[in-house]
Amino acid sequence: MVLATGGTIAGTAASAGDNVGYSAAQIGIEQLLARIPALQGLPVLAEQVAQIDSKDMDWDVWRALAQRCAHWLAQDSVQGIVITHGTDTLEETAYFLQQVLAPAKPVVLTCAMRPATALLADGPQNIVDALAVAAWPGAQGVVAVCAGVVHAADDVAKVHPYRLDAFGSGDAGPLGHVEEGRLRLLRNWPVAPVNTAPSAIENIAKAQQLPRVEIVLNHAGASGAMVRDLVAGGVRGIVVAGTGNGTLHQGLEAALLAAQAGGVALLLASRCANGSIVRHAAGPIRMHARSAVKARIDLQLELLA
Ligand code: ASP
Repeated sequence: MVLATGGTIAGTAASAGDNVGYSAAQIGIEQLLARIPALQGLPVLAEQVAQIDSKDMDWDVWRALAQRCAHWLAQDSVQGIVITHGTDTLEETAYFLQQVLAPAKPVVLTCAMRPATALLADGPQNIVDALAVAAWPGAQGVVAVCAGVVHAADDVAKVHPYRLDAFGSGDAGPLGHVEEGRLRLLRNWPVAPVNTAPSAIENIAKAQQLPRVEIVLNHAGASGAMVRDLVAGGVRGIVVAGTGNGTLHQGLEAALLAAQAGGVALLLASRCANGSIVRHAAGPIRMHARSAVKARIDLQLELLA
């Protein structure tokens, strides 16, 4: 089952030579799939869940996508799901779906760095590779496929604004590679980290919005001003991306601890691209092992529950 959400993979430019000046989310999924000769005759169905540039990803699309995934995953005739998605927030959607679905079947997000009208578009090959992973015996969990590389939802992050191979898995490394329709698996399929799936999908069906959680970054000259503004604005949670091993400017830290004392939920992540915080003793702010954008999803789901 292919669920489409838009992105550059469905984008169009005025000229075939233009790989960057395009509009994302223009072409419907049926049309995109019809252009790929390798798919003709295969038992592949498609549904357009949304048609957006993933920079604008929001709760309505996430909720609809999670519900459509849950619906199709429950059908015995469905072996796996492929989701076409923009690259910009792909890692967030992948992580969100892993946390709420924890699927025993594969849910494979794929994308493109060049629009569908490009002379050498990367989208069709990515779709073919993603379908190969979704159909692979034993495949499970939420993963991303781009430029022949398979990444686990927990680890995947966009690491390049232009290169076709735009994603990385940090220290963990990729799950595997797709080569001529065959999967070369390097490590085990992701398994459900927490048993939140049954209640999570019920909770999100009821929620009109996710609780408001914002991300704050530590940096040279950071102060607590932004945190105080957020608290005044009624924020429910703050994820702070600390420098290095989760360090915080003293002014920022003081404002965060005051917010926490006032009932705002905090999570500390590292702004480093690789690794996660190594603590020698429990600090005053709960840590998260993943990136700030993924920590934000966990805190939102926690507050929702
Ligand atoms: N802005 C686009 C999106 O995320 C970028 C892409 O798909 O590559 O939808």
